[in-house]
Amino acid sequence: MSDNDKPTNERFIPFFKPSFSNAEEDAVIRVLRSGWLTTGKEAAAFESEFSSFVGSPHCLAVNSASSGLMLAMEAFGVGPGAKILTTPYTFVSTATSARHLGAEVAYADIERDSYGIDPEKVEVALRKDKTIRAIVPVHIAGNLCDMESIREIARRYGVPVIEDAAHAFPSKTENGYAGTLGDAGIFSFYATKTITTGEGGMVAVRDGDVANRIRTMRSHGIDRNTFDRYTSKTASWKYDVVDEGWKCNLPDILAAIGREQLKKANSFFELRSAVARRYTQAFSAFDFLRCPPDGPGNAWHLYLLRFDTDRLDCGRDAIAQELQDAGLGVSMHFIPHFELTWCKKRYGLSSDDFPEAAKKYETTITLPFYPGMDGETVERVIETVTRIACKHARIRP
Ligand SMILES: *Cc1c(COP(=O)(O)O)cnc(C)c1O
Repeated sequence: MSDNDKPTNERFIPFFKPSFSNAEEDAVIRVLRSGWLTTGKEAAAFESEFSSFVGSPHCLAVNSASSGLMLAMEAFGVGPGAKILTTPYTFVSTATSARHLGAEVAYADIERDSYGIDPEKVEVALRKDKTIRAIVPVHIAGNLCDMESIREIARRYGVPVIEDAAHAFPSKTENGYAGTLGDAGIFSFYATKTITTGEGGMVAVRDGDVANRIRTMRSHGIDRNTFDRYTSKTASWKYDVVDEGWKCNLPDILAAIGREQLKKANSFFELRSAVARRYTQAFSAFDFLRCPPDGPGNAWHLYLLRFDTDRLDCGRDAIAQELQDAGLGVSMHFIPHFELTWCKKRYGLSSDDFPEAAKKYETTITLPFYPGMDGETVERVIETVTRIACKHARIRP
């Protein structure tokens, strides 16, 4: 191994790099100098700009998508005695958000040809389990779930659809943006997401009453927001607490970064799409590589490459290690919940229960992928991946 191959080397290609300019720096300084650091004017402006962008009547800024999921579920009545339905192929907080409310999690497998929840399995689950009170589809890597089928099933069973759109901004379809296709949608501004505030999230909801409930519960259950308390003519100490809420507001320092990132969301998307097109063009020449599903409105958050391990002399883990050793910051989205100790203990599930999720998990690697990737870096990823995969390819009879 030469020096150039070490992950610590500057030639190491990370899995993600955020793109900031002077605009974000100026925004942070503006907020610091204003003297108002917590949720205030910047957060309100971010909410209204985000609302206009995605075309949702109500957008509520929160300190993470995980908080947003919990708040949205709570507002739709998810609690003790209820379940949410999602897939095991997602980040853990899609499920633990429901557990924090005392609700349980039911799982349906993903589709054969995508990482999205399988609508047929959603219907089977709803038919047999009347305690399911919300469907939570996850648009893995930015590729959308079959929302039309899911919405149609949800309507028939009278349950809300809460989209985990953490990967799906800005995913535009003929029916609107992902995150506005169901009853609520949750976006993430975590450090590696398509736009970032370091930590943060946004909840988009259709219904005004649901929005009001989330607004109250994200702020201790207080019926009056902090900014109003300190800026209106009514005395600032006057407020009531109407229920046991949480602390999930987005501070203005982060909201100001979010406003700048939002302006660049479309150009970031174009840059990622160009990298994805080049990857797919290069990888589709090899029949033991499977390019990611690419349906209408794909936001291209991540590039999930699959390795047909039946045609290789080793498994996904060995390939991933070699890629890492060769200087690529690879990742895995996601370790399915049935592989996690928490889920095994709570629900006793295993890979046998979810053959499609299990198969994807055994064969998928997330490649370095971000908007600021230059052409040379993209070509180096392609060269490294194809060289290592070809070395392990079995010669077919
Ligand atoms: C990142 C992510 C979340 C959680 O987002 P946070 O903002 O970090 O809480 C939820 N679901 C999915 C699918 C994610 O990738």
